[in-house]
Amino acid sequence: MAFIDGKAIAAAIRAEIKSEIQSLKIQPGLAAVLVGDDPASKVYVRNKRKACEEAGIYSEECALAKDISEADLLACIDRLNRNPKIHGILVQLPLPRQINTRRALDAVSPDKDVDGFHYLNVGKLVANEKGFRPCTPLGIMKLLQAAHVEIAGAHAVVIGRSDIVGKPTALLLLHEHATVTLCHSKTKGLDAICRQADIVVAAIGKPLFVTKEMVKKGAVVIDVGINRLADGRLVGDVDFEGVCDVASAITPVPGGVGPMTIAMLLSNTLQSAVGG
Ligand code: NAP
Repeated sequence: MAFIDGKAIAAAIRAEIKSEIQSLKIQPGLAAVLVGDDPASKVYVRNKRKACEEAGIYSEECALAKDISEADLLACIDRLNRNPKIHGILVQLPLPRQINTRRALDAVSPDKDVDGFHYLNVGKLVANEKGFRPCTPLGIMKLLQAAHVEIAGAHAVVIGRSDIVGKPTALLLLHEHATVTLCHSKTKGLDAICRQADIVVAAIGKPLFVTKEMVKKGAVVIDVGINRLADGRLVGDVDFEGVCDVASAITPVPGGVGPMTIAMLLSNTLQSAVGG
């Protein structure tokens, strides 16, 4: 059984990005728009800024009051769209109630949409055309590639159909020629479907949901979940201990998918800056 070490793979990607940036004539720039004072969002934005600094990416934070009007938020995004120092813009979710999230995401220029949430980039993903891909699904694909997992022809079962993780991951796997089953809370016979999978991606948000009995011997298991237990422990959506007995490769939590998400954000920002 192999551990897919997301921390090490992400560190290698970040080192490559840093060295590529050193050879550039321009400095890539990323702006994070943070509305309100949600503690988790603040931590995410702080970590993203720190990662930018380490990689040599200029970073800017637009911290806005939680009662900001939608018009003022859109005006802030518009200023960033026109700022030549900024190549990537992320709008940290969730946004407060008075803001229409879709309108805010679509206000970001598709050319600076490094989270891949703008409708145009969503459409390009569906059509398998070049465009920004959401960072967590992209990170999952890089992990599978780094672990030399055969995707073409494999049966991939993705559990969870969110717009930011499950659905785009299913599409990326499909474009790499996997046969994909996308499961969700209404799926009947989930355990039996999961047992058929060569690749399992768990993106549910329920601690230890995927058990040993749901995994075929030799399957590759990617655990996207991040769940805090009552005793303070951080666990994924997969019962890691049990599943280790049957999987051929598995990502740990923490240290699996999580570090890849930030690495892919840096990668998308660099791509945006070099126009690629
Ligand atoms: P989400 O928007 O809450 O979506 C959860 C999905 O799981 C939904 O599609 C839901 O189905 C499905 N689901 C819930 N209960 C289920 C059940 N009993 N059986 C089958 N499917 C079920 O969550 P998300 O944003 O995709 O995130 C999922 C997890 O990944 C969370 O733990 C989150 O913290 C983590 N995450 C990690 C990273 C990272 O960088 N590592 C990034 C993003 C998210 P319905 O659609 O039918 O409701």
